[in-house]
Amino acid sequence: MTEKSFDSAVQDALARIEERIENACVRAGRSREDVRLMAVTKTVEAERINRALEAGVSLIGENRVQEFLAKKPALLPGRAEMHLIGHLQSNKVNSIVGQVDMIQSVDSEALARKISRRSEELGIVTRVLAEVNIGGEEAKSGIAPEGLEELLGQMALLPGISVEGLMTVPPISEKESEKRAFFSKMYQLQVDMRAKNIDNIDMRILSMGMSDDFEEAILEGATLVRIGSAIFGRRQYV
Ligand SMILES: *Cc1c(COP(=O)(O)O)cnc(C)c1O
Repeated sequence: MTEKSFDSAVQDALARIEERIENACVRAGRSREDVRLMAVTKTVEAERINRALEAGVSLIGENRVQEFLAKKPALLPGRAEMHLIGHLQSNKVNSIVGQVDMIQSVDSEALARKISRRSEELGIVTRVLAEVNIGGEEAKSGIAPEGLEELLGQMALLPGISVEGLMTVPPISEKESEKRAFFSKMYQLQVDMRAKNIDNIDMRILSMGMSDDFEEAILEGATLVRIGSAIFGRRQYV
């Protein structure tokens, strides 16, 4: 593919996604401004990410610390917020804190503590989300819903982080009703946790929905959808 045709491919894909987000917001009776689009750029090379940034993408998400740090210097500066959305190993905390605008995948007190400590060393506060394993899947990261309140209580005490909401990757499911049930549970968790009024805990962000299910997520209250392959095409793992 020539660069030009890629440009228009990514622009066309973004336009289609934008239209689908708008339609889902209308169906949900929500305002378009209530839902933020993240372009998930894992496995996408910097050059192609920059085309998306030029097309107006203002938020990108990466899964792996090393991959992100390798690409970051080549990205157009000042265009987009950058979030880490993949599982964070504790030995990578020191290299990622200060390099991203938010870490969406905090699922234990130990991890939260490390992020907070490193942030304090750097004199910053790191914005984070608590990742919830809403389907109770063994192989997935995320805190169990039953443990969320306790985790939030612990995170609230850490001076180097600020909690701004919840994130999830629900089980893969073909049925729309099943997908919506998991998203709906997440929305309920957000409402419940907000009602607890935990000091220093903000619940404004609900990060859920990917290429195959972002419309269902919007219908159930997502405020941030994370979309990769529907923008950049199928990922090629090397
Ligand atoms: C890869 C990934 C996405 C995007 O997935 P697509 O199906 O390509 O849209 C979203 N969230 C997380 C946590 C991911 O790892």
